[in-house]
Amino acid sequence: MKLNWLVLLVLLVLLLPFGLKAEPKVVLVSIDGVRWQEVFAGADPALSHRPEWVKTPQLIQAFTPGQPELLMPFLHKTVSQQGITVGNRSQGSSMNVSNPYQISYPGYQELLAGFVDPAIHSNNKIANPNVTVLEWLNQQPPLQHKVAAFGSWDLFPYILNTERSGLTVNAGFMQQQGKLSEKQKYLNQLQAKTPSPFANVRLDVFTQEFALEHMRLHKPKLLYIALGEADDFAHMGQYDQYLAAIHRSDQFIADLWQELQNDPYYRDQTTLLISTDHGRGEAAQWRSHGKSAAVPGYKGPVPQIAGSEQIWLAAIGPGIPSAGLIRTTGSWQQGQMAATLAAALGFDYQAVQHKAAPAFDFNASARLALSPSHLEVRRGDKPARLQEHSNAM
Ligand SMILES: [Zn+2]
Repeated sequence: MKLNWLVLLVLLVLLLPFGLKAEPKVVLVSIDGVRWQEVFAGADPALSHRPEWVKTPQLIQAFTPGQPELLMPFLHKTVSQQGITVGNRSQGSSMNVSNPYQISYPGYQELLAGFVDPAIHSNNKIANPNVTVLEWLNQQPPLQHKVAAFGSWDLFPYILNTERSGLTVNAGFMQQQGKLSEKQKYLNQLQAKTPSPFANVRLDVFTQEFALEHMRLHKPKLLYIALGEADDFAHMGQYDQYLAAIHRSDQFIADLWQELQNDPYYRDQTTLLISTDHGRGEAAQWRSHGKSAAVPGYKGPVPQIAGSEQIWLAAIGPGIPSAGLIRTTGSWQQGQMAATLAAALGFDYQAVQHKAAPAFDFNASARLALSPSHLEVRRGDKPARLQEHSNAM
């Protein structure tokens, strides 16, 4: 008997480092300005045949309209099967931003701080006066220095107020700093030599690769990846490039998920949340988004684009039921994401930030799940004037 106890003890000590103790982790991915219409119905037939918006038809040949699983295979074949999705309005599922501006910085403020701040009504580079859920969690003992954010847009150091928060943030065209792996050194060199089509947004592949390498080296418990190129291609009026960017984003997230599941530190302990900062218009207005409330810092004509408030969510992980598309009673709100993210890590964000919207109750909402078998999106093709604006997220 004595020997058996000893064997058990040795086994226990040997096995402890191999993840017997489950610890929650969260990865949040946002894809800037991606419409629910593409997420749930794939290529928009009203746009995908228009030569003025599609210069390279071969690029989107594989994305048959009405077959969203061709555009976003990971989201439909994995997340929707093993987790939940919200925002397919043609099936009674909706999610909105609450902010009246419906552009990027106000969207990220709502997503990451959990509430609307009228002081954040533009995309100007102002340090966020609000503490985001990332900053707050980074101060909690189990998560200290275990939070990191990687973004394609150069505004993230302001949105996350790195001067005050001290958060690890790499965004825009920033080089990775500190003691670097060979891969990080190479990514720095490659990024410096790669032209971006956008003035203040790098290509997403750098955001993705910097984030994955940081994850391998530093094992963050909360990782935020903010992809950005889809929105910029849309503003440029390149529907083919916009779709290709969405497809790449889905592939990036699939690769990320696979790495998480191959790593005992993350496997079966990591919640993945995927969403966006705002929607965009329909038909001829697909290129743009925003409401007139947003004026300063928003370059181009004052936008008034219906549909910009419409967003979506996909989630998978240990606390998320395998429910597929959820029918929502009323509309879910963007501001709920911050408390949801904290809850997945075991924290009550609302207790310290009373302005924050409540976390989603995924288990209660699973009762309202819809069969994901016949997704179909009804599309309006109403004529609308084409909005021009450049360089605005
Ligand atoms: Zn935009």
